[in-house]
Amino acid sequence: MDLKDFELIYTQDRCEINDKQKIERKIREIIGDNNISTKEVDILAYTKDASLITLNWAIQGKIAGLPDFIIWPDTVEQICNILKFANQEKIPVIPYGEGSGVVGGAIPIRGGIIIDMKKFNKIIEINDKNLTVTAQTGINGMNLERYLNAKGYTTGHIPQSLYISSLGGWIAHRAAGQFSTKYGKIEDIILGMEVISPQGEILNFKPIPRASTGPQLEKLFIGGEGTLGIVTEATLKIWPYPDKRILISYAFSSIDDSFKAVRQILREQIYPAVIRIYDSFETSRHFPDIENAKDKVMVVFVCEGNSKLVELEESITREKSEKNSGIDCGVHPVEHWFETRFRITETSAMPPYKIVFDTIEVASLWENASAIYHSVLDSMKKLQGVIMITAHVSHFYPNGVGIYFTFGGVPSKEQTDLEYYQKCWDTIIKAVLDAGGSIAHHHGIGINRAHWMESEWGNSVNTLREIKKLLDPNNILNPGKLYVDTWKGGET
Ligand SMILES: Cc1cc2nc3c(=O)[nH]c(=O)nc-3n(C[C@H](O)[C@H](O)[C@H](O)COP(=O)(O)OP(=O)(O)OC[C@H]3O[C@@H](n4cnc5c(N)ncnc54)[C@H](O)[C@@H]3O)c2cc1C
Repeated sequence: MDLKDFELIYTQDRCEINDKQKIERKIREIIGDNNISTKEVDILAYTKDASLITLNWAIQGKIAGLPDFIIWPDTVEQICNILKFANQEKIPVIPYGEGSGVVGGAIPIRGGIIIDMKKFNKIIEINDKNLTVTAQTGINGMNLERYLNAKGYTTGHIPQSLYISSLGGWIAHRAAGQFSTKYGKIEDIILGMEVISPQGEILNFKPIPRASTGPQLEKLFIGGEGTLGIVTEATLKIWPYPDKRILISYAFSSIDDSFKAVRQILREQIYPAVIRIYDSFETSRHFPDIENAKDKVMVVFVCEGNSKLVELEESITREKSEKNSGIDCGVHPVEHWFETRFRITETSAMPPYKIVFDTIEVASLWENASAIYHSVLDSMKKLQGVIMITAHVSHFYPNGVGIYFTFGGVPSKEQTDLEYYQKCWDTIIKAVLDAGGSIAHHHGIGINRAHWMESEWGNSVNTLREIKKLLDPNNILNPGKLYVDTWKGGET
Protein backbone atom coordinates (compact mmCIF):
# COMPACT_ATOMS: atom_id res chain seq x y z
CA MET A 1 0.00 0.00 0.00
CA ASP A 2 1.41 3.42 -0.79
CA LEU A 3 0.34 6.95 0.07
CA LYS A 4 -2.14 7.42 -2.76
CA ASP A 5 -4.15 4.42 -1.50
CA PHE A 6 -4.96 6.09 1.83
CA GLU A 7 -8.13 8.14 2.20
CA LEU A 8 -7.31 11.65 3.49
CA ILE A 9 -9.55 12.87 6.35
CA TYR A 10 -8.68 16.59 6.47
CA THR A 11 -8.94 17.98 2.95
CA GLN A 12 -10.59 21.36 3.56
CA ASP A 13 -8.41 24.45 2.86
CA ARG A 14 -5.48 22.24 1.87
CA CYS A 15 -2.61 24.27 0.43
CA GLU A 16 -1.63 22.75 -2.91
CA ILE A 17 1.98 23.51 -3.77
CA ASN A 18 2.46 24.12 -7.49
CA ASP A 19 6.16 23.71 -8.15
CA LYS A 20 7.12 21.24 -5.44
CA GLN A 21 10.58 20.56 -6.82
CA LYS A 22 11.51 24.23 -6.78
CA ILE A 23 10.30 24.56 -3.18
CA GLU A 24 12.22 21.46 -2.17
CA ARG A 25 15.43 22.81 -3.75
CA LYS A 26 15.09 26.03 -1.77
CA ILE A 27 14.40 24.20 1.52
CA ARG A 28 17.49 22.04 0.89
CA GLU A 29 19.54 25.22 0.37
CA ILE A 30 18.38 26.50 3.75
CA ILE A 31 18.78 23.41 5.90
CA GLY A 32 21.02 21.03 3.94
CA ASP A 33 20.31 17.68 2.30
CA ASN A 34 20.56 15.67 5.51
CA ASN A 35 17.78 17.54 7.28
CA ILE A 36 14.86 16.99 4.88
CA SER A 37 12.78 14.06 3.70
CA THR A 38 10.01 13.61 1.16
CA LYS A 39 10.12 9.81 1.35
CA GLU A 40 6.68 8.23 1.60
CA VAL A 41 7.61 6.41 4.78
CA ASP A 42 8.46 9.69 6.52
CA ILE A 43 5.48 11.55 5.10
CA LEU A 44 3.23 8.75 6.41
CA ALA A 45 4.82 8.92 9.87
CA TYR A 46 3.86 12.59 10.21
CA THR A 47 0.24 12.36 9.04
CA LYS A 48 -1.10 12.18 12.60
CA ASP A 49 -0.45 12.76 16.27
CA ALA A 50 -1.53 10.47 19.12
CA SER A 51 -5.26 11.38 18.92
CA LEU A 52 -6.91 8.04 19.54
CA ILE A 53 -9.34 8.29 16.62
CA THR A 54 -6.32 8.15 14.29
CA LEU A 55 -5.76 4.54 15.43
CA ASN A 56 -9.25 3.62 14.15
CA TRP A 57 -8.41 5.39 10.89
CA ALA A 58 -5.08 3.58 10.55
CA ILE A 59 -6.89 0.23 10.58
CA GLN A 60 -9.28 1.49 7.88
CA GLY A 61 -6.50 2.83 5.62
CA LYS A 62 -7.26 6.49 6.34
CA ILE A 63 -4.78 9.22 7.19
CA ALA A 64 -5.49 12.45 9.01
CA GLY A 65 -3.34 15.08 7.23
CA LEU A 66 -0.76 14.96 4.45
CA PRO A 67 2.46 16.98 4.85
CA ASP A 68 4.64 17.81 1.84
CA PHE A 69 8.08 18.03 3.48
CA ILE A 70 9.54 16.83 6.76
CA ILE A 71 12.53 18.78 8.04
CA TRP A 72 14.80 18.46 11.07
CA PRO A 73 16.56 21.82 11.50
CA ASP A 74 19.52 21.99 13.86
CA THR A 75 20.04 25.75 14.19
CA VAL A 76 17.83 28.69 15.10
CA GLU A 77 18.97 30.45 11.93
CA GLN A 78 17.61 27.60 9.80
CA ILE A 79 14.20 27.86 11.50
CA CYS A 80 14.15 31.64 10.95
CA ASN A 81 15.01 31.22 7.27
CA ILE A 82 12.46 28.46 6.74
CA LEU A 83 9.76 30.67 8.24
CA LYS A 84 10.77 33.64 6.08
CA PHE A 85 10.71 31.44 2.99
CA ALA A 86 7.36 29.86 3.97
CA ASN A 87 5.92 33.39 4.29
CA GLN A 88 7.11 34.29 0.80
CA GLU A 89 5.58 31.11 -0.66
CA LYS A 90 2.56 31.02 1.70
CA ILE A 91 3.23 27.43 2.74
CA PRO A 92 1.98 26.12 6.14
CA VAL A 93 4.64 25.20 8.70
CA ILE A 94 3.78 22.85 11.56
CA PRO A 95 6.07 22.61 14.61
CA TYR A 96 6.36 18.98 15.77
CA GLY A 97 7.76 17.70 19.07
CA GLU A 98 7.15 13.97 19.55
CA GLY A 99 3.61 13.71 18.20
CA SER A 100 2.13 12.61 21.55
CA GLY A 101 -0.48 15.37 21.51
CA VAL A 102 -4.01 13.98 21.64
CA VAL A 103 -6.10 16.82 20.16
CA GLY A 104 -4.75 16.94 16.60
CA GLY A 105 -2.43 19.89 17.34
CA ALA A 106 0.47 18.61 15.20
CA ILE A 107 -1.65 17.19 12.35
CA PRO A 108 -0.79 18.96 9.06
CA ILE A 109 -4.41 19.55 8.06
CA ARG A 110 -3.46 22.00 5.28
CA GLY A 111 -0.28 20.18 4.21
CA GLY A 112 3.05 22.03 4.18
CA ILE A 113 6.33 21.69 6.05
CA ILE A 114 6.62 19.73 9.30
CA ILE A 115 9.42 21.19 11.44
CA ASP A 116 10.43 18.28 13.65
CA MET A 117 12.34 19.74 16.60
CA LYS A 118 14.19 16.53 17.64
CA LYS A 119 17.66 17.92 16.80
CA PHE A 120 17.05 20.70 19.32
CA ASN A 121 17.87 18.28 22.11
CA LYS A 122 20.69 19.88 24.10
CA ILE A 123 20.77 20.65 27.80
CA ILE A 124 22.55 23.98 27.91
CA GLU A 125 23.04 24.62 31.63
CA ILE A 126 22.05 23.52 35.11
CA ASN A 127 22.40 26.39 37.57
CA ASP A 128 22.40 25.12 41.16
CA LYS A 129 22.32 28.55 42.77
CA ASN A 130 19.28 29.68 40.77
CA LEU A 131 17.78 26.17 40.73
CA THR A 132 17.22 26.27 36.98
CA VAL A 133 17.90 24.18 33.90
CA THR A 134 18.08 25.62 30.40
CA ALA A 135 17.44 23.25 27.50
CA GLN A 136 16.48 23.21 23.84
CA THR A 137 12.83 22.39 23.41
CA GLY A 138 13.06 19.34 21.15
CA ILE A 139 14.50 17.38 24.07
CA ASN A 140 12.59 14.25 25.02
CA GLY A 141 10.96 14.55 28.46
CA MET A 142 12.48 11.39 29.92
CA ASN A 143 15.97 12.30 28.67
CA LEU A 144 15.73 15.65 30.43
CA GLU A 145 14.39 14.17 33.66
CA ARG A 146 16.94 11.29 33.75
CA TYR A 147 19.79 13.72 33.20
CA LEU A 148 18.52 15.91 36.05
CA ASN A 149 17.95 12.93 38.35
CA ALA A 150 21.55 11.77 37.78
CA LYS A 151 22.73 15.21 38.94
CA GLY A 152 20.42 15.15 41.99
CA TYR A 153 17.51 17.27 40.67
CA THR A 154 14.01 16.99 39.23
CA THR A 155 11.74 19.40 37.38
CA GLY A 156 8.77 17.72 39.08
CA HIS A 157 7.02 17.75 35.67
CA ILE A 158 6.22 14.09 35.05
CA PRO A 159 3.36 13.67 32.54
CA GLN A 160 2.22 10.14 31.75
CA SER A 161 3.68 10.82 28.30
CA LEU A 162 7.15 11.58 29.74
CA TYR A 163 8.85 9.02 27.44
CA ILE A 164 7.03 10.17 24.30
CA SER A 165 6.78 13.97 24.57
CA SER A 166 9.10 16.97 24.31
CA LEU A 167 9.67 20.15 26.29
CA GLY A 168 8.35 22.21 23.33
CA GLY A 169 5.14 20.16 23.20
CA TRP A 170 4.60 20.64 26.95
CA ILE A 171 4.92 24.41 26.55
CA ALA A 172 2.71 24.53 23.46
CA HIS A 173 -0.15 22.62 25.12
CA ARG A 174 0.21 23.97 28.71
CA ALA A 175 0.91 20.49 29.99
CA ALA A 176 0.48 19.18 33.53
CA GLY A 177 2.39 16.32 35.12
CA GLN A 178 1.36 13.66 37.62
CA PHE A 179 3.23 15.45 40.46
CA SER A 180 1.74 18.83 39.63
CA THR A 181 -0.08 19.47 42.90
CA LYS A 182 3.29 20.14 44.54
CA TYR A 183 5.54 21.28 41.66
CA GLY A 184 3.00 23.17 39.55
CA LYS A 185 1.97 22.92 35.92
CA ILE A 186 4.31 23.82 33.04
CA GLU A 187 3.34 27.52 33.16
CA ASP A 188 4.49 27.61 36.82
CA ILE A 189 7.78 25.93 35.93
CA ILE A 190 8.93 27.95 32.88
CA LEU A 191 11.00 31.04 33.80
CA GLY A 192 12.25 32.15 30.38
CA MET A 193 12.08 31.26 26.69
CA GLU A 194 13.49 31.84 23.23
CA VAL A 195 10.77 31.91 20.57
CA ILE A 196 10.89 32.33 16.79
CA SER A 197 7.99 34.42 15.54
CA PRO A 198 5.96 33.24 12.51
CA GLN A 199 7.86 35.79 10.39
CA GLY A 200 11.23 34.41 11.46
CA GLU A 201 12.30 36.92 14.14
CA ILE A 202 13.97 35.77 17.36
CA LEU A 203 12.15 36.82 20.55
CA ASN A 204 13.95 36.45 23.87
CA PHE A 205 12.20 36.36 27.25
CA LYS A 206 14.99 36.21 29.81
CA PRO A 207 14.66 33.86 32.79
CA ILE A 208 13.49 35.76 35.85
CA PRO A 209 11.51 34.61 38.93
CA ARG A 210 9.00 37.42 38.32
CA ALA A 211 8.98 40.96 36.97
CA SER A 212 6.68 43.95 36.87
CA THR A 213 7.40 44.80 33.26
CA GLY A 214 4.00 45.14 31.68
CA PRO A 215 1.81 42.22 30.62
CA GLN A 216 3.52 38.86 30.49
CA LEU A 217 3.88 38.68 26.72
CA GLU A 218 5.78 35.38 26.95
CA LYS A 219 2.63 33.69 28.28
CA LEU A 220 1.15 33.98 24.79
CA PHE A 221 3.50 31.23 23.72
CA ILE A 222 2.70 28.92 26.66
CA GLY A 223 -0.44 27.36 25.27
CA GLY A 224 0.08 28.98 21.84
CA GLU A 225 -0.07 25.45 20.34
CA GLY A 226 2.58 26.31 17.79
CA THR A 227 0.30 28.88 16.12
CA LEU A 228 2.05 32.04 17.38
CA GLY A 229 5.71 31.03 17.47
CA ILE A 230 8.18 28.16 17.63
CA VAL A 231 9.76 27.81 21.07
CA THR A 232 13.41 26.83 20.66
CA GLU A 233 14.84 27.11 24.18
CA ALA A 234 13.45 27.35 27.72
CA THR A 235 14.65 27.79 31.28
CA LEU A 236 12.78 25.74 33.86
CA LYS A 237 12.70 25.61 37.66
CA ILE A 238 14.32 22.52 39.16
CA TRP A 239 14.32 21.09 42.70
CA PRO A 240 16.76 18.92 44.68
CA TYR A 241 15.63 15.32 44.25
CA PRO A 242 13.32 14.59 47.23
CA ASP A 243 14.87 13.08 50.40
CA LYS A 244 11.83 11.11 51.28
CA ARG A 245 8.64 9.75 49.78
CA ILE A 246 5.62 8.53 51.75
CA LEU A 247 2.91 6.49 50.03
CA ILE A 248 -0.66 6.69 51.35
CA SER A 249 -4.02 5.40 50.11
CA TYR A 250 -7.59 5.56 51.36
CA ALA A 251 -10.88 4.21 50.06
CA PHE A 252 -13.98 6.44 50.36
CA SER A 253 -17.66 5.57 50.09
CA SER A 254 -18.36 8.15 47.38
CA ILE A 255 -16.60 10.56 45.08
CA ASP A 256 -18.12 13.43 47.07
CA ASP A 257 -16.52 12.19 50.31
CA SER A 258 -13.15 11.95 48.57
CA PHE A 259 -13.54 15.50 47.18
CA LYS A 260 -14.28 16.74 50.70
CA ALA A 261 -11.19 15.09 52.19
CA VAL A 262 -8.84 16.38 49.47
CA ARG A 263 -10.32 19.88 49.64
CA GLN A 264 -9.74 19.98 53.39
CA ILE A 265 -6.10 18.84 52.95
CA LEU A 266 -5.39 21.59 50.41
CA ARG A 267 -7.06 24.25 52.58
CA GLU A 268 -4.33 23.56 55.15
CA GLN A 269 -1.75 24.40 52.45
CA ILE A 270 -0.64 20.79 52.37
CA TYR A 271 0.34 19.82 48.83
CA PRO A 272 0.99 16.10 48.37
CA ALA A 273 2.97 15.82 45.10
CA VAL A 274 0.52 13.26 43.74
CA ILE A 275 -3.19 13.00 44.50
CA ARG A 276 -5.36 10.75 42.36
CA ILE A 277 -9.04 10.01 42.95
CA TYR A 278 -10.45 7.04 40.99
CA ASP A 279 -14.23 6.77 40.71
CA SER A 280 -15.70 3.39 41.66
CA PHE A 281 -15.54 2.12 38.04
CA GLU A 282 -11.85 2.95 37.71
CA THR A 283 -11.14 1.65 41.22
CA SER A 284 -12.50 -1.75 40.24
CA ARG A 285 -10.48 -1.62 36.98
CA HIS A 286 -7.14 -0.58 38.51
CA PHE A 287 -7.32 -2.04 42.03
CA PRO A 288 -9.41 -5.25 41.81
CA ASP A 289 -7.31 -6.97 44.52
CA ILE A 290 -7.80 -4.37 47.24
CA GLU A 291 -10.58 -5.83 49.38
CA ASN A 292 -11.19 -2.59 51.37
CA ALA A 293 -11.73 -0.67 48.12
CA LYS A 294 -14.48 -2.91 46.72
CA ASP A 295 -17.28 -0.70 45.25
CA LYS A 296 -15.49 2.33 46.69
CA VAL A 297 -13.48 5.31 45.48
CA MET A 298 -9.72 4.85 45.79
CA VAL A 299 -7.49 7.86 46.50
CA VAL A 300 -3.69 7.59 46.31
CA PHE A 301 -1.34 10.21 47.74
CA VAL A 302 2.42 10.64 47.41
CA CYS A 303 4.05 13.10 49.81
CA GLU A 304 7.68 13.90 48.98
CA GLY A 305 10.46 16.33 49.84
CA ASN A 306 12.20 17.21 53.09
CA SER A 307 11.59 14.33 55.51
CA LYS A 308 10.32 16.45 58.43
CA LEU A 309 7.85 18.29 56.21
CA VAL A 310 6.74 15.08 54.52
CA GLU A 311 5.90 13.50 57.89
CA LEU A 312 3.76 16.51 58.73
CA GLU A 313 2.05 16.29 55.32
CA GLU A 314 1.38 12.61 55.98
CA SER A 315 -0.23 13.21 59.36
CA ILE A 316 -2.55 15.95 58.05
CA THR A 317 -3.42 13.88 54.95
CA ARG A 318 -4.35 10.93 57.17
CA GLU A 319 -6.28 13.10 59.65
CA LYS A 320 -8.48 14.67 56.95
CA SER A 321 -9.00 11.37 55.12
CA GLU A 322 -10.09 9.57 58.29
CA LYS A 323 -12.31 12.47 59.32
CA ASN A 324 -14.20 11.86 56.06
CA SER A 325 -14.53 8.11 56.71
CA GLY A 326 -11.59 7.09 54.50
CA ILE A 327 -10.43 3.49 55.01
CA ASP A 328 -6.65 3.08 55.04
CA CYS A 329 -5.58 0.78 52.17
CA GLY A 330 -1.82 0.87 52.82
CA VAL A 331 1.06 1.37 50.38
CA HIS A 332 0.20 -1.38 47.89
CA PRO A 333 -2.22 0.65 45.71
CA VAL A 334 0.36 3.44 45.44
CA GLU A 335 3.16 1.00 44.57
CA HIS A 336 0.86 -0.47 41.92
CA TRP A 337 0.30 3.04 40.54
CA PHE A 338 4.08 3.65 40.41
CA GLU A 339 4.59 0.37 38.52
CA THR A 340 1.87 1.01 35.96
CA ARG A 341 1.84 4.80 35.60
CA PHE A 342 3.50 4.85 32.15
CA ARG A 343 1.57 1.84 30.80
CA ILE A 344 -0.56 3.01 27.87
CA THR A 345 -1.41 -0.16 25.96
CA GLU A 346 -5.12 -0.11 26.89
CA THR A 347 -5.83 2.63 24.38
CA SER A 348 -4.54 0.77 21.31
CA ALA A 349 -6.40 -2.41 22.30
CA MET A 350 -9.80 -0.86 21.45
CA PRO A 351 -9.77 0.08 17.72
CA PRO A 352 -9.47 -3.53 16.41
CA TYR A 353 -12.87 -4.16 18.06
CA LYS A 354 -14.27 -1.08 16.23
CA ILE A 355 -14.57 0.71 19.55
CA VAL A 356 -14.17 4.48 19.46
CA PHE A 357 -12.25 5.34 22.62
CA ASP A 358 -10.78 8.51 24.07
CA THR A 359 -10.03 10.53 27.17
CA ILE A 360 -11.14 14.10 27.88
CA GLU A 361 -9.74 16.20 30.70
CA VAL A 362 -11.60 19.26 31.92
CA ALA A 363 -11.25 21.78 34.75
CA SER A 364 -13.59 23.00 37.45
CA LEU A 365 -13.86 25.05 40.60
CA TRP A 366 -14.61 22.90 43.64
CA GLU A 367 -18.21 24.16 43.76
CA ASN A 368 -18.99 22.58 40.35
CA ALA A 369 -16.79 19.49 40.47
CA SER A 370 -19.38 17.03 41.71
CA ALA A 371 -22.08 18.31 39.32
CA ILE A 372 -19.70 18.01 36.37
CA TYR A 373 -18.74 14.47 37.26
CA HIS A 374 -22.34 13.27 37.65
CA SER A 375 -23.69 15.22 34.71
CA VAL A 376 -21.07 13.86 32.28
CA LEU A 377 -21.75 10.30 33.40
CA ASP A 378 -25.52 10.75 33.12
CA SER A 379 -25.40 12.30 29.65
CA MET A 380 -22.98 9.74 28.28
CA LYS A 381 -25.03 6.84 29.63
CA LYS A 382 -27.97 8.14 27.56
CA LEU A 383 -25.92 8.28 24.35
CA GLN A 384 -26.47 5.33 22.03
CA GLY A 385 -23.57 2.91 21.71
CA VAL A 386 -21.65 4.04 24.82
CA ILE A 387 -20.15 1.02 26.58
CA MET A 388 -18.00 2.80 29.16
CA ILE A 389 -17.72 6.17 30.82
CA THR A 390 -15.44 6.50 33.85
CA ALA A 391 -13.33 9.19 35.52
CA HIS A 392 -10.38 9.94 37.71
CA VAL A 393 -9.29 13.24 39.17
CA SER A 394 -5.57 13.83 39.02
CA HIS A 395 -4.82 17.57 39.27
CA PHE A 396 -5.72 19.65 42.29
CA TYR A 397 -5.72 23.23 43.53
CA PRO A 398 -7.08 24.76 46.73
CA ASN A 399 -9.74 26.23 44.40
CA GLY A 400 -10.63 23.31 42.16
CA VAL A 401 -9.69 20.24 40.13
CA GLY A 402 -8.85 18.73 36.75
CA ILE A 403 -11.19 15.80 35.98
CA TYR A 404 -10.21 13.15 33.43
CA PHE A 405 -13.00 11.21 31.70
CA THR A 406 -12.50 8.02 29.67
CA PHE A 407 -15.16 6.84 27.23
CA GLY A 408 -15.64 4.02 24.78
CA GLY A 409 -18.50 3.31 22.41
CA VAL A 410 -19.54 1.74 19.13
CA PRO A 411 -20.95 3.88 16.30
CA SER A 412 -24.20 2.88 14.65
CA LYS A 413 -24.07 1.54 11.07
CA GLU A 414 -25.13 4.92 9.67
CA GLN A 415 -22.35 6.84 11.46
CA THR A 416 -18.67 7.21 10.60
CA ASP A 417 -16.21 6.77 13.45
CA LEU A 418 -15.47 10.50 13.28
CA GLU A 419 -19.16 11.46 13.53
CA TYR A 420 -19.63 9.24 16.57
CA TYR A 421 -16.37 10.43 18.13
CA GLN A 422 -17.48 14.04 17.76
CA LYS A 423 -20.90 13.21 19.20
CA CYS A 424 -19.25 11.73 22.32
CA TRP A 425 -16.91 14.72 22.64
CA ASP A 426 -19.74 17.21 22.19
CA THR A 427 -21.91 15.41 24.75
CA ILE A 428 -19.17 15.53 27.37
CA ILE A 429 -18.07 19.11 26.67
CA LYS A 430 -21.66 20.38 26.69
CA ALA A 431 -22.30 18.75 30.08
CA VAL A 432 -19.09 20.32 31.41
CA LEU A 433 -19.92 23.81 30.15
CA ASP A 434 -23.53 23.61 31.35
CA ALA A 435 -22.28 22.71 34.84
CA GLY A 436 -19.82 25.62 34.92
CA GLY A 437 -16.54 23.91 33.96
CA SER A 438 -13.78 24.62 31.48
CA ILE A 439 -13.32 22.55 28.29
CA ALA A 440 -9.64 21.58 28.71
CA HIS A 441 -7.31 21.10 31.65
CA HIS A 442 -3.98 20.05 30.06
CA HIS A 443 -4.28 18.44 26.63
CA GLY A 444 -4.99 21.68 24.80
CA ILE A 445 -7.45 22.60 22.03
CA GLY A 446 -5.90 21.52 18.69
CA ILE A 447 -8.61 20.54 16.22
CA ASN A 448 -10.82 18.54 18.59
CA ARG A 449 -11.93 21.40 20.79
CA ALA A 450 -11.57 24.33 18.37
CA HIS A 451 -15.32 24.69 17.78
CA TRP A 452 -15.93 24.98 21.53
CA MET A 453 -13.55 27.90 22.06
CA GLU A 454 -16.28 30.47 21.37
CA SER A 455 -18.43 28.95 24.16
CA GLU A 456 -15.42 28.89 26.48
CA TRP A 457 -14.01 32.35 25.81
CA GLY A 458 -16.87 34.32 24.21
CA ASN A 459 -15.71 37.16 21.96
CA SER A 460 -12.19 37.07 23.48
CA VAL A 461 -11.48 34.48 20.75
CA ASN A 462 -11.62 37.39 18.29
CA THR A 463 -8.83 39.11 20.23
CA LEU A 464 -6.75 35.96 19.80
CA ARG A 465 -7.57 35.99 16.07
CA GLU A 466 -6.40 39.62 15.86
CA ILE A 467 -3.14 38.78 17.68
CA LYS A 468 -2.60 35.93 15.23
CA LYS A 469 -3.14 38.26 12.26
CA LEU A 470 -0.60 40.67 13.66
CA LEU A 471 2.07 38.05 14.33
CA ASP A 472 1.35 35.78 11.37
CA PRO A 473 -0.17 37.88 8.54
CA ASN A 474 -0.02 35.01 6.04
CA ASN A 475 -1.44 32.44 8.52
CA ILE A 476 1.38 30.00 7.83
CA LEU A 477 2.16 28.78 11.35
CA ASN A 478 0.09 25.73 12.29
CA PRO A 479 -3.10 27.09 10.70
CA GLY A 480 -6.54 25.71 11.57
CA LYS A 481 -5.80 25.01 15.25
CA LEU A 482 -6.91 26.51 18.57
CA TYR A 483 -10.18 28.03 17.26
CA VAL A 484 -12.31 27.77 14.14
CA ASP A 485 -10.10 29.27 11.48
CA THR A 486 -11.25 29.73 7.91
CA TRP A 487 -8.87 32.61 7.24
CA LYS A 488 -6.51 31.95 4.33
CA GLY A 489 -4.02 34.62 5.37
CA GLY A 490 -3.32 37.92 3.64
CA GLU A 491 -5.98 40.65 3.54
CA THR A 492 -8.84 40.21 6.04
C1 LIG B 1 -0.39 8.13 26.62
C2 LIG B 1 -0.40 9.63 26.74
C3 LIG B 1 -0.34 10.20 27.99
C4 LIG B 1 -0.36 11.60 28.13
N1 LIG B 1 -0.23 12.13 29.37
C5 LIG B 1 -0.21 13.48 29.51
C6 LIG B 1 -0.06 14.07 30.80
O1 LIG B 1 0.07 13.38 31.82
N2 LIG B 1 -0.06 15.43 30.89
C7 LIG B 1 -0.18 16.21 29.78
O2 LIG B 1 -0.16 17.44 29.92
N3 LIG B 1 -0.33 15.68 28.56
C8 LIG B 1 -0.34 14.35 28.39
N4 LIG B 1 -0.47 13.80 27.14
C9 LIG B 1 -0.61 14.67 25.96
C10 LIG B 1 0.73 15.01 25.28
O3 LIG B 1 1.77 14.17 25.70
C11 LIG B 1 1.06 16.45 25.59
O4 LIG B 1 0.12 17.28 24.95
C12 LIG B 1 2.47 16.89 25.21
O5 LIG B 1 2.66 18.14 25.80
C13 LIG B 1 2.73 16.96 23.72
O6 LIG B 1 4.14 17.00 23.50
P1 LIG B 1 4.78 16.56 22.10
O7 LIG B 1 6.22 16.90 22.16
O8 LIG B 1 4.48 15.13 21.79
O9 LIG B 1 4.03 17.53 21.12
P2 LIG B 1 3.39 17.28 19.68
O10 LIG B 1 2.28 16.31 19.77
O11 LIG B 1 4.46 17.00 18.70
O12 LIG B 1 2.80 18.73 19.39
C14 LIG B 1 1.79 19.24 20.19
C15 LIG B 1 1.56 20.71 19.83
O13 LIG B 1 2.70 21.45 20.18
C16 LIG B 1 3.22 22.17 19.06
N5 LIG B 1 4.67 22.19 19.25
C17 LIG B 1 5.51 21.14 19.43
N6 LIG B 1 6.75 21.58 19.65
C18 LIG B 1 6.72 22.94 19.61
C19 LIG B 1 7.69 23.97 19.76
N7 LIG B 1 8.97 23.70 20.02
N8 LIG B 1 7.28 25.27 19.67
C20 LIG B 1 5.98 25.57 19.43
N9 LIG B 1 5.03 24.62 19.27
C21 LIG B 1 5.39 23.33 19.37
C22 LIG B 1 2.70 21.39 17.86
O14 LIG B 1 2.61 22.21 16.72
C23 LIG B 1 1.35 20.94 18.36
O15 LIG B 1 0.41 21.97 18.20
C24 LIG B 1 -0.46 12.41 26.97
C25 LIG B 1 -0.51 11.82 25.70
C26 LIG B 1 -0.49 10.45 25.59
C27 LIG B 1 -0.52 9.82 24.22
